[in-house]
Amino acid sequence: MKIGSPRETADREARVALTPDSARQLAKLGHQCVVESGAGERSGYSDDAYRSAGVDVVHDAAELFSISDVVVKVRPPQPEELNSLAEGKTLISFFYPGQNRPLLEQAVEKGVNTIAMDMVPRISRAQKMDALSSMANIAGYRAVIEAGNNFGRFFTGQVTAAGKVPPAKVLVIGAGVAGLAAIGTATSLGAITLAFDVRPEVAEQIESMGAEFVHLDFAKQQDGSANGGYAAPSSPEFREKQLAKFRELAPEVDIVITTALIPGRDAPKLWLADMVAAMKPGSVIVDLAAERGGNCDLTRPDERIVSDNGVVVIGYTDFPSRMAAQASSLYAMNIRHMLADLTPGKDGQLVHDMDDDVIRGATVAFQGDLTFPPPPPKVQ
Ligand code: NAD
Repeated sequence: MKIGSPRETADREARVALTPDSARQLAKLGHQCVVESGAGERSGYSDDAYRSAGVDVVHDAAELFSISDVVVKVRPPQPEELNSLAEGKTLISFFYPGQNRPLLEQAVEKGVNTIAMDMVPRISRAQKMDALSSMANIAGYRAVIEAGNNFGRFFTGQVTAAGKVPPAKVLVIGAGVAGLAAIGTATSLGAITLAFDVRPEVAEQIESMGAEFVHLDFAKQQDGSANGGYAAPSSPEFREKQLAKFRELAPEVDIVITTALIPGRDAPKLWLADMVAAMKPGSVIVDLAAERGGNCDLTRPDERIVSDNGVVVIGYTDFPSRMAAQASSLYAMNIRHMLADLTPGKDGQLVHDMDDDVIRGATVAFQGDLTFPPPPPKVQ
């Protein structure tokens, strides 16, 4: 099959879905790869690097869409991109079918078999294809680096000839994939790291990474877990306790990284305006939930603002794209694993097996049928 990867057209998108390395691996499965000229430029892959890996380079996006049997992308396609794919072809990209209903209907109508990388089931066997986790890991790491860039002090404590420097105190709210990556990065830089999550089972993971789990003084520690390891909304009493604890911590923390999300809802507001006002000037908040409305009252998506009392609030929504080389190589690996499962004979022939839990779960449109939402996976 011909696997094609276009240049991404969205603003602030620097990633690419195919790298020279992943193309070499795909060739071993019997596929021939093609990219649009400049597709890898912003991730550090030149057209010549692709050519050396045996990839064809075409100069026109329309040509790429017309000659490819499978199009691999990062962002959901534009309606005109989807339109230029003929019936029976396959598209693999982030798609967010719940939020992109008209696009999903278009894929069904066009008969384009559509695999949404954001719908890969979060079961052990599918971890190698879990692009959401790959990107969340980068976002968590980069959030700390971004915080460091905006913080005028060391993370680690030092004893210098001039005197003692205290370590920075970092609070991470939400310890899913991004939060754990942020905790790992902050502790490795030498900060004192505190972390909170509504799911008590993450306390052990937080502590094993050298951070302190923030316990609430709550008669019955609520288990905020819902299905599949995701969080459920907190009760009003629990939320009050949580906010009271954050209010207590606000004057002493230097950096707050918020990552709290609840599936299908706006991000919960957890770092309120009065907490920002209580922080020391020069403190930094990085809000990884900015795209879903933000965990902090002051967050403005895609902006860096400074509060009246000198606290920097960062609401960028493109952290993986800010590390495009790393993000592209991991995403291209996730895609390559997906294509390996779709090519069981390693003979360049696609077998779209709808009895396979992982392929079924990620397929949102198949042979002109709507296949979203998927049934729950049989295996965990
Ligand atoms: P997410 O992005 O949906 O949410 C981030 C974190 O915010 C979660 O840990 C959640 O508990 C927390 N949160 C929600 N409301 C909060 C609040 N009010 N206060 C504090 N924290 C709050 O989560 P994610 O990173 O996508 O991970 C979700 C789950 O999926 C985790 O249990 C993770 O271990 C699991 N997972 C499993 C696999 C796998 O088995 N293949 C892969 C990835 C993730």
